[in-house]
Amino acid sequence: MYPKLVIDLKKLEDNLNAVGKITKEDGGCSLMIVTKGLCADLEMAKMVAANDYVDFVADSRVKNIASYADIVRGAGKKTVLLRIPMHSEVAEVAKYVDLCFNSELSTIRLLNEEAAKLGKKQDILLMIDLGDLREGIFFQNEDLIYEAVEEILAMENINLYGIGVNLTCYGAIIPKNDNLSQLVDIARKLEAKYDIKLEMVSGGNSSSIYLVGKGELPEGINNLRLGESFLLGNDTAYETKLPGTVSDALILQAEIIELKEKPSLPIGEVGVDAFGEKPYYEDRGIMKRAIIGIGKQDTDLGSMTPCDPQVEIMGGSSDHIILDVTHADKEYKVGDIVEFELGYGGMLKTATSAYVERAYRK
Ligand SMILES: *Cc1c(COP(=O)(O)O)cnc(C)c1O
Repeated sequence: MYPKLVIDLKKLEDNLNAVGKITKEDGGCSLMIVTKGLCADLEMAKMVAANDYVDFVADSRVKNIASYADIVRGAGKKTVLLRIPMHSEVAEVAKYVDLCFNSELSTIRLLNEEAAKLGKKQDILLMIDLGDLREGIFFQNEDLIYEAVEEILAMENINLYGIGVNLTCYGAIIPKNDNLSQLVDIARKLEAKYDIKLEMVSGGNSSSIYLVGKGELPEGINNLRLGESFLLGNDTAYETKLPGTVSDALILQAEIIELKEKPSLPIGEVGVDAFGEKPYYEDRGIMKRAIIGIGKQDTDLGSMTPCDPQVEIMGGSSDHIILDVTHADKEYKVGDIVEFELGYGGMLKTATSAYVERAYRK
């Protein structure tokens, strides 16, 4: 059945080894692999948990972590929750999450209570916002950081495992030696002020890994959290390919359900499309138009690239995508499968859609 997301576990493992080598051997950091881009696919999670480079397996959703916590812990690795937890999910967090990212004292207090019920000490990472303006205590409000740390250190069932930053997700701020050095400074100040040792200073996601290659990752950053660079081979700071990775470990396959020659311009008064937008049409004369059985409900049209460079995506609606196959050497016909490489958005949506089947290559 199609559409189908084909996951090449061998290629994914090669990507993992490539980013693992950069992060651990060249960068001297521990490696946290992030599974949310592929909705914590279990076959992938097993491969990741078994890989020697991997220290932590992380996701933004507790439900995903619950699905593979046994596998990860069984392999001697730790589970990590990246998204700041909701009050309503702290019981689940205490159960399935070994290291939890946090920025709100009210939530950490609840986590302290839940950890006490389980008789455990919950490791947490306190997030610092260095200017990207998503989660974390704002770095310029040092007093607020001290206030939070003091209260955390007094909690019976919470262990302050470290601090971390996230960049390039919301504000698109690029990690550099200078902003990441500020994180290291904060860590060293906290250690001196409270006579503690922070195990982890986590220096960001796939947009930070390029710093290792340039020799500019500040000393003191000792962890990176990698999703996209492992799944798609991307350095997300400058959109380059990381050495030793491939971009086709994940392939989307969709089936042609109609193929007809039609004009390129619709006929009649133009209103708005199914999503309320006014479409733009280019007159290309009579075209060979293929419709594939997948739509905006299942994927992101701007985040998929046909593997056949002579095929072009024209547009689509909820359940259909229209391709221009006029200039393709291959004689496409109804029933044929068209393949696509995916970007982050396309990967996320296809992995989330209940209508996209999965297949594995080993
Ligand atoms: C999603 C996420 C990551 C991984 O990001 P990639 O760009 O896919 O490497 C790391 N850290 C946090 C906090 C995240 O939310």
